[in-house]
Amino acid sequence: MNKSKIWLSSPHMGGNEQQFVNEAFEANWVAPLGPNVTGFETDLEHYLDSDVHVGALSSGTAALHLALILLGIQPGDEVLCQSMTFSASANPIAYLGALPIFVDSEPTTWNICPNALEDAIKDRIQKGKKPKAIVAVHLYGMPFQVDAILAIAQRYEIPIVEDSAEALGSTYQGKKCGTFGTIGVLSFNGNKIITTSGGGALVAKTKELKEKAVFLATQARDAAPHYQHSEIGYNYRLSNICAGIGRGQMQVLDDHIALRRGMHTFYQEALKGEEGITVFSEPHADYFSNHWLSALVIDPEKCHGKTREDLRLAFEAENIESRPLWKPMHLQPVFENYLYFGGKVSEHLFTNGLCLPSGSNLTDAERNRILEVLQRFKN
Ligand SMILES: *Cc1c(COP(=O)(O)O)cnc(C)c1O
Repeated sequence: MNKSKIWLSSPHMGGNEQQFVNEAFEANWVAPLGPNVTGFETDLEHYLDSDVHVGALSSGTAALHLALILLGIQPGDEVLCQSMTFSASANPIAYLGALPIFVDSEPTTWNICPNALEDAIKDRIQKGKKPKAIVAVHLYGMPFQVDAILAIAQRYEIPIVEDSAEALGSTYQGKKCGTFGTIGVLSFNGNKIITTSGGGALVAKTKELKEKAVFLATQARDAAPHYQHSEIGYNYRLSNICAGIGRGQMQVLDDHIALRRGMHTFYQEALKGEEGITVFSEPHADYFSNHWLSALVIDPEKCHGKTREDLRLAFEAENIESRPLWKPMHLQPVFENYLYFGGKVSEHLFTNGLCLPSGSNLTDAERNRILEVLQRFKN
């Protein structure tokens, strides 16, 4: 095969990243602190345009781990978690010796279902195990049902860890994702809408909480001339080199969102009128997705028996990457012994759904190769 690989989502530099990195070299700020780290945090705070305080960290997973620590999660505590997500949403619950309780999705946003969530909370309270937190995710950039989920969290007084790793730039009723939860989480891994090669951030509502997060992320050093520790610390701060990439990426974030949304429109148009294929789209105008990944669901009965696996293999034959939707956590071998609330929505999505090449850097020629595969699949 000599056709070049088309990826689901690959890094897309804007042009100024290297300049920020060079400045770091010139000033010898080659460390997990420095002007790029502070600058990147300020850029993010301005972008989220809410009264938030951002701490830059080594990964989104680190941010989730610290978020749960800051909420006081202890061994044996129960934490509710959207089942349909990347494993990094759930793993930090296990790091703390706490127990994830998985919750199904609803079919419009593919995110945590308010009804299943409330059933889970009521059941656990009845058993004397009130959940200590809710991990809710904006999958593929699509905001979860923010009003409904926040109302439940408020009613039962349970904090929300808002996993916004895939949703930087998405909004709900005009407000940026990452700012709704008690604590928000961002990721800048290589395949996300912007990347620092690897990195993440914790979004706090107060300066004190951010400072506590940074304190824990830098080995929990007490104020003393020697190394003194009263708490267990972590090495979770973002490197000043990586933060330089992030500063450059912030300059092109809105362009990247427009391009990713353009890919979503491309798929909508390519598949217009196809009864058995649904392109994942915003339910109504309250929702604005960054469309980090475009995705679709195939109903084989309405597609002459053709399945999403047929489409995936057709792409693969042309050296085009596509991937089934996230496999729900309650179906993962490592989490099979934990409780689950809900029905088969996430399972159905996993069986019939496919993520499509969605990069902001796809060329016209690459789009044509994708289109040819879709055209052949339709016929
Ligand atoms: C990418 C991702 C994470 C983890 O972020 P890293 O920076 O890769 O550690 C967490 N949750 C979701 C939903 C993600 O997609």
